[in-house]
Amino acid sequence: MKDLDEVSLKTPNSTWSEYDCNISEKQCRFCFGDEESDRKSGIPSLWMSPCKCDGSIKWVHERCFKQWLNLAPFPQQSACSTCGFIYRKSWRMKSLSEWSCPPLRITFWDVVEIGLDFYSTFKLFRGMYQMLEGKKSIFGQICYFIFWKTFIFTDRRILYYKSIGAAMATSFFEPQVRNVDDEKEKQQK
Ligand SMILES: [Zn+2]
Ligand SMILES: [Zn+2]
Repeated sequence: MKDLDEVSLKTPNSTWSEYDCNISEKQCRFCFGDEESDRKSGIPSLWMSPCKCDGSIKWVHERCFKQWLNLAPFPQQSACSTCGFIYRKSWRMKSLSEWSCPPLRITFWDVVEIGLDFYSTFKLFRGMYQMLEGKKSIFGQICYFIFWKTFIFTDRRILYYKSIGAAMATSFFEPQVRNVDDEKEKQQK
């Protein structure tokens, strides 16, 4: 993977022109439709390249990408799983009529886990307060903190709460992923 990146960095012009010769038509990386099939079906052909992926997976229909973003797991909503590029997003406020219920899929076990998270975090702060009052030993509190940091306040849980936050935000805001090529053009100007 690293080697590939280095090669494409060293010879950006030659790889570009090669692709221009081989692939003159854009093809969607999700539905595999191209400009030809769009023309036949009469759907407006709106294209974007949201990340640094190149070649046959560079292009995607704007509509396919949007649809996919709504369904993708949270880490893949923020960055491309192939090239790791973090999508450049801007948030547009939805009009009142477009506001909707947050698309949360919370199961019974999610509720149990959230409850446990809140209870143990509450216990941590209560313990600290009691420690300051001299009712609890510092050693015991440190042990509890290590337990909390290892099993409760984990990266997995932080990601989970971030995804809930993002899902709630989509009720009122619409994320718009910007085109990488637009940004390149802007930088050149
Ligand atoms: Zn498509
Ligand atoms: Zn990519």
